[in-house]
Amino acid sequence: MQSKINRSKSESLFNTAKTYFPGGVNSPVRAFKSVDGGPLFIKKGDGCTIWDEDGNQFLDFCCSWGPLILGHNNQHVYNGIVDALKNGASFGAPTVLENELAELILSRNPFIEKIRFVSSGTEAVMSALRLARGYTGKKKVLKFEGCYHGHVDSMLVKAGSGLATFGESSSAGVPEEYANETLVLPLNDIEALRACIKEYKDELACAIIEPIPANNGLLLQEKTFLLELRKLCTENGIILLFDEVISGFRVGFNGAAELFNIKPDIITYGKIIGGGLPVGAYGASNEIMACVSPDGPVYQAGTLSGNPVAMAAGIAQLTECAKPGFYEDQEERTLFFVEKVNNHAKTNGYNFELITIGSIFWLSFDGKKRVRRADQIDADMGQFKDLFSALLSRGVYIGPSGYEVGFISQAHTKEHLTVAATALCEALDVVYS
Ligand SMILES: *Cc1c(COP(=O)(O)O)cnc(C)c1O
Repeated sequence: MQSKINRSKSESLFNTAKTYFPGGVNSPVRAFKSVDGGPLFIKKGDGCTIWDEDGNQFLDFCCSWGPLILGHNNQHVYNGIVDALKNGASFGAPTVLENELAELILSRNPFIEKIRFVSSGTEAVMSALRLARGYTGKKKVLKFEGCYHGHVDSMLVKAGSGLATFGESSSAGVPEEYANETLVLPLNDIEALRACIKEYKDELACAIIEPIPANNGLLLQEKTFLLELRKLCTENGIILLFDEVISGFRVGFNGAAELFNIKPDIITYGKIIGGGLPVGAYGASNEIMACVSPDGPVYQAGTLSGNPVAMAAGIAQLTECAKPGFYEDQEERTLFFVEKVNNHAKTNGYNFELITIGSIFWLSFDGKKRVRRADQIDADMGQFKDLFSALLSRGVYIGPSGYEVGFISQAHTKEHLTVAATALCEALDVVYS
């Protein structure tokens, strides 16, 4: 079902891009592989609206995959970036802006005492895993099927066949030896967790989890599972690493750690922390962070780490997020949207539900049950494809994959959300007709 919009300029640009970049893109999901038509080339964004090169206009629920919690072209972020840029783009020496962003975060965050800024979520995870290994002197890491942690070698693993907990690499170029140091378990399975930790506790440096898994559908975990994970890690000298690259500053200023009131040993951040510019971070207690170079033996560095322009964007964005009521308001508007759509789906008997937490939502075509494990997601994404096209032709842009979540920003007013909910209800009527 092709959507009706004119995409001729985007198509032509994509053809040119294919001569420059593998698959025509600089990050694979942008290639629109799992939906019809090629990617839209975006010309500009303002508030919650984006325009493509053909002049089509959309309400944007991708929001750059999460970073833009204030929407596009936010005045505070814009001014912060411009002011910083006037003083120069980069020095490779400390600037006061690094202190300011750190202060903004650490003064509010009871879970970490020191932080290190890097340039992406992937880099944060890679560095945090090295820190966990350096701190514990152990080698193996435990991850959960369905959680995404960036394209770090040791995280590009999937569950092995049968009962084996050893990972198999999910990308060419990742040596089996690396994959073998990663154990993979299903989410939300306390028995499997207990058995694995019992067997490997002396080898496990760390357990890494998205406390709110949001890269493979929205797989909301039972709090009891996260509490058990915390307990088992504490009892067995295993670092608990919360990868809050999506959930950090999204479900609350201090992310899922605060929402669940669970203190991980190391936290990684990304996305929102940089206000739309490339920033990642990892943080932990003074004791753990003392292992990081130059204080300690775990090496980690970056030419553009703590870049002043990126820090300024982060400061401007997080200053807004820290204002009283920000997250309550985000959640209230998200529920307003979600309930409209879910009521429509229910009234019409569609097996569809928007799953939501904070200002994240996911289109679940299996609305009858709460999906908590990656292997429970219906692999048939045919309905998503149709819905995606129906939404595009109604002026609503979401991430071009059924496994991706949508985001609501401060710029999405109830008026915008009413329009979008109506479009989504109509699109559902098309898909289920
Ligand atoms: C996006 C994401 C990453 C990777 O961050 P990049 O900035 O894309 O490298 C890692 N972990 C989680 C949970 C993410 O959502």
